[in-house]
Amino acid sequence: MLGFGKATKSTPADAPQARDEKPDSAVPGSAPLEEDALESLGFVLRALGRGSFAVEDLEPAAIAARFEAWASHLLVRAPHPEAPESERPAGVRPDFAGLRRFVTTHRKREQAYVQGSVDGLRDAVWAFARSLNRVLGEGTRAGAEVDQRIRQLREAAERPSTEDLRREVLAAAESIESIVGELRRRQQSHADELGRKVRTLTEQLAETQREVGLDALTRLANRKALDAHLGRLGDLAGVLHSSATLLMIDLDHFKQVNDAHGHPTGDDVLRGVADSLSRTFLRKSDFVARYGGEEFVVILNETTLASAIMLADRFRGTLRTVEFQKNGARFHVTVSIGVAELQPGEAPETWVERADRALYEAKRAGRDRAVAAT
Ligand code: GH3
Ligand code: MG
Ligand code: MG
Repeated sequence: MLGFGKATKSTPADAPQARDEKPDSAVPGSAPLEEDALESLGFVLRALGRGSFAVEDLEPAAIAARFEAWASHLLVRAPHPEAPESERPAGVRPDFAGLRRFVTTHRKREQAYVQGSVDGLRDAVWAFARSLNRVLGEGTRAGAEVDQRIRQLREAAERPSTEDLRREVLAAAESIESIVGELRRRQQSHADELGRKVRTLTEQLAETQREVGLDALTRLANRKALDAHLGRLGDLAGVLHSSATLLMIDLDHFKQVNDAHGHPTGDDVLRGVADSLSRTFLRKSDFVARYGGEEFVVILNETTLASAIMLADRFRGTLRTVEFQKNGARFHVTVSIGVAELQPGEAPETWVERADRALYEAKRAGRDRAVAAT
């Protein structure tokens, strides 16, 4: 803080008056020159105040007000801007020494603030370049371009010109945007490619199994082929993120069909049901098997529980339209179905068991229906 008392002590209050009364006769017109100088100094102070750089703890308006107070002190002998309220005599000789100290101190603070801001910006650019290098620069094809950009950024951060730095940061941002976009596109196409491969694989899987183990009566996949298929699905579970749903299908009161129409007719019915299943579940990846006796299993890839229930009901609808006959007697059969969607990490046996329990529920609830497993 500048001491008002100290400043006035070093410059006696009557000094300017003495000079005003006896102007230096060797310099004609010196009084107007002094006034001019004072006025210009006041003008300069106001201009400095209005155009000051920011400093840490002062608003621009507060800075302008301080300069204005000094200008008024100088021009109209307003009270000393830094004296305490109680010690503010007006009309004394201006405190020039105090003014010099004020302007010098303020200028130093400005400089420190601007330098600090520029250094902070440089540090931020450095940190940015370093992390960018870690994320994108290693082991990618885009790496070379990123390296080059980072080199340019570092060089610009070392140069004094902030304009260079600004230009390099903008250029780096632009090229990084396009690199990241390219990486994202590549990642997406890898994912698409992987998805296509997995789909082909499961289709081939279903096809191979169909060829290897066929049930002699229905020509559907047999139990052995079904077990192999379930095993492969288990192996693929880590890669197959899509849903798969299993239908466990059992003919209702089939014993009565055999009893009423004979075993060979029962066989015809089993073939007819198998045929309806094949016509309903048409996709290459759909796997239809005879589980044993009058029970069938259908595995639907990329099918949610809700869609599978819908398809199960559609199959029951189809079966209603299929008429069997023996010695002029016409009859229909119905089925009960348990439906279970494969849970993440679930073992195939558990999956089948859940579908089986749902089938049991369907039977218990009155047959001729599909029930979702919990
Ligand atoms: P539910 O509605 O509870 O399933 O009654 P269901 O009569 O269908 O069930 P149950 O298990 O009592 O009878 C199944 C019958 O299926 C008994 C068996 O003779 C018959 N079956 C199993 N395999 C064959 C086959 O290959 N051909 C014929 N014709 N019948 C079979
Ligand atoms: Mg049965
Ligand atoms: Mg049955």
